[in-house]
Amino acid sequence: MKRLLLALLPWMALTTATAQVRHVEVAYTHFGDTPQKAFRLGDEVFVPTDALAAWGWKAVRRGEIFELEAEGRKFSLPSRDFSGTRAIPFLRALEQIGGSSSWVVGSDKLEVFGAISSITLRDGKISVGSSMQVRPNAFYLANPHRLVLDIDGARLTRATMQELEGTARVSQFKPNTVRIVVEPGFVPELPPTRPVAGQQIEFQVRAASMAPVTRPPVQPPVLEGVTPPPPPVAILDPLPAIGDPLDLRVDSDTPARTQLGVRLPRVLGEVRLRRPDPVTLEVVLPGASLRLPDDFKLATDAVARAETRAVGADTVLTLHLPRPMGAELWTEGPRVGISLIKPNVGDGRLAGKVIVVDPGHGGTDPGARAGNVSEKNLTLAISKLLTDELAAQGATVIMTRKTDVAVSLGERANIANRNNADLFLSVHINSTAGRPQTGVITFHHRNSQVSKLLAECINREIAKVSKLPDLGVWSDGRIYQNGFAVLRNTKMPGVLLELGFINHPTDRARMVTADFQKSVAQAVVRGVRVYLGDAKAKEEE
Ligand SMILES: [Zn+2]
Repeated sequence: MKRLLLALLPWMALTTATAQVRHVEVAYTHFGDTPQKAFRLGDEVFVPTDALAAWGWKAVRRGEIFELEAEGRKFSLPSRDFSGTRAIPFLRALEQIGGSSSWVVGSDKLEVFGAISSITLRDGKISVGSSMQVRPNAFYLANPHRLVLDIDGARLTRATMQELEGTARVSQFKPNTVRIVVEPGFVPELPPTRPVAGQQIEFQVRAASMAPVTRPPVQPPVLEGVTPPPPPVAILDPLPAIGDPLDLRVDSDTPARTQLGVRLPRVLGEVRLRRPDPVTLEVVLPGASLRLPDDFKLATDAVARAETRAVGADTVLTLHLPRPMGAELWTEGPRVGISLIKPNVGDGRLAGKVIVVDPGHGGTDPGARAGNVSEKNLTLAISKLLTDELAAQGATVIMTRKTDVAVSLGERANIANRNNADLFLSVHINSTAGRPQTGVITFHHRNSQVSKLLAECINREIAKVSKLPDLGVWSDGRIYQNGFAVLRNTKMPGVLLELGFINHPTDRARMVTADFQKSVAQAVVRGVRVYLGDAKAKEEE
């Protein structure tokens, strides 16, 4: 597809330029909206040494090594040059400090948290141990009268020691806030609301019986003193799976679609949907500690098993599906809806299905060309192998062309619609007008969740054998607002494969091999069988 390629260019140029070093931001969560610029390289994040002072870190250079003093600890780390900027490996530094971090979903911002090592309320005194600076923020609530102490920039861990008198409670109130609530019976002094340097915060609370509540609640802050830092705590483990029961139910159930509903106790952030494989859906409920009973069973056969686990401050709801399904997520306040879209796959077997295979271009339209190779010849060769594989497993296969002839885009879609095909598979080879790119993309039509599922199943199998980079599953809406004509005008689930870049020497050399053409054809068939829910497809992997 030649026109596609020009449209791809701006995106491609961007990813290439940033493939190695990515510009990101690092924010101590209680430092507000002034994150520091940093570089991400592989799994490590490098922070320029001249930015460290903003966090109160001291850095002294000894050749390539930096001696650092941070959060009450001293250690040395190697540094690295980024176009004239010296930077240190930040995640290694965090390990030394015993801090924790996580990426803000959908962004290049890394948030940094202190790990709470201990919380005690004893003899009228609250002590909080943290691996890093935190910002306590205290206020009173009435009816009943209670003190709330929010510790911003902190997370509870599996290792957090809690020793609490009376009815005091501790919770991970938000992803970056630990909340301590002290019930009536104590009348504490309010602690400071600025960031507290050092690792141990202590402040006085007094029993109500010792001091009648006659004075206004706001008093000058009392900071009892700063004790030496505790030994570094382990990097955050998942929180233990304790919490309130998760309210998960079936709202409606039809052969085509099952609608599940979740009601959260409160809204704490963006709920996300992930699909680690075609039969597993994960719903991430941020900042929630919720659980399903071990013997929980949903009143639908669209879900084989549902379970919860705690990951950091979040709860992950995992739905194990009996076969691949499309999925959609919506939220409305604390209500979360999950739609499971069940493709019509008949008996779930490839045998007896009608499949249209569409070799791109042909005749007077050669498609993309480079190094004496034409897209139209490659797509025909691969499509014939694909047709043979599908037919050998009992499918009825119709090709939109079997020879080097031109067929209009409208006619290609008509062939599939006329024959009431179950699936439409279009085969193309990519190209760029400028700098060559490399890799495989599987396209689906923009609003079709079922076609997206088919694309995910096929793309996953191709990635195992192509020996080219996997550029993933794309909506055709990313290329044209209305998508590709052949996907828009076909009435059945379909995909358009871009199997590599003809003007990239590595891709071209690979795509002309018999091994590539045969193994990709077989991979597409495996992907189709996974999509159909054919249990044997998994065994044959
Ligand atoms: Zn093409």
